[in-house]
Amino acid sequence: TVKTGKAQEMFAYDRLVLTLGSELVRPPIPGLAAHSFDVDTYASALRLDAHLAALARQPTSDARSTVVIVGAGFTGIEVATEMPAKLDRAGVTGHRRIVLVDPSAVVGATIGQNARPVINEALSALNIETRLAVIVTSVDASSITLSSGEVIATDTVVWCAGMRASPLAADLCSERDRSGRLMVDPFMRASGLKNVFAAGDVASCIVDGVHATVMSCQFARPMGRFAGHNVVADLFGEPMLPLNIDWYVTVLDLGKWGALYTVGWDRLVRTTGASAKSTKLTINHERIYPPRSGSRADLLAAAAPTLQAPPAARP
Ligand SMILES: Cc1cc2nc3c(=O)[nH]c(=O)nc-3n(C[C@H](O)[C@H](O)[C@H](O)COP(=O)(O)OP(=O)(O)OC[C@H]3O[C@@H](n4cnc5c(N)ncnc54)[C@H](O)[C@@H]3O)c2cc1C
Repeated sequence: TVKTGKAQEMFAYDRLVLTLGSELVRPPIPGLAAHSFDVDTYASALRLDAHLAALARQPTSDARSTVVIVGAGFTGIEVATEMPAKLDRAGVTGHRRIVLVDPSAVVGATIGQNARPVINEALSALNIETRLAVIVTSVDASSITLSSGEVIATDTVVWCAGMRASPLAADLCSERDRSGRLMVDPFMRASGLKNVFAAGDVASCIVDGVHATVMSCQFARPMGRFAGHNVVADLFGEPMLPLNIDWYVTVLDLGKWGALYTVGWDRLVRTTGASAKSTKLTINHERIYPPRSGSRADLLAAAAPTLQAPPAARP
């Protein structure tokens, strides 16, 4: 069923491909929904930008100068390390504090011990404070309270504490992983559902016989290409193609310090600093975009069910 404003349409389907994505997990902490920002969507990132621009016009205070980022995973680390430059651009100058909060005893708990020293070096170079092994107990318009009892004066709390699959997945099937994702086979067919394919953040697929996809464009993009190919092949009785991915990399932005490029599921450090940043910029300025030539042939070629090579590591 599709709703557009007040109108509602129902479609019968032969095959369905679900690419509903994911949403931010926001627990019922007092004040959190009313007094926090996030960067989960373009609209929410613009809202944060507008808030920072408005802060620049306010008189100096501890709350104005302090940004607290909750969640020291991939998104929170990227937001924290980009924040000094973001505050500069917004015009919030003078003394500033950026504080990264997480319940884990370490930053980047899932990122692993190989990569963590690089992240800690960047955080320290950018003067980013951490509050670890604490949870947020409440938020209001000008402060955040932690389980340690600490109250930090701040006008800006950015919530980056985890994602879960679209809640619509729960309506479709009880067989889901702990992030609420539908389980799909190597052809992107959702298990337990007839004639339904799923791809991207809403789906989990074992890609190398051992590891399940993680919510990322690195997996979402090939999953989408293979789901698109296979649903048409299935409809016309043609052979489907299995998705096998034998490489995994992460390229984490670390603001003005640079970036971190790791390889493999153990995340061995490949490049850091300016060279990794150059790889990151290639990814998020070029690689993730469809062709912008306006050519139908280019667009169809980009949708081919093939696997790209890992992004090049710059020297
Ligand atoms: C701040 C941030 C930084 C990230 N950085 C990286 C990175 O550096 N590298 C990386 O690999 N990944 C990164 N990711 C993750 C990456 O963006 C996602 O994994 C990817 O976008 C998933 O693609 P998707 O198509 O599954 O979902 P999405 O891109 O979320 O698309 C889902 C679409 O479905 C629409 N939709 C949802 N519900 C409905 C509904 N009921 N009806 C109709 N439409 C609906 C949504 O509006 C959306 O347009 C980042 C994510 C965030 C939030």
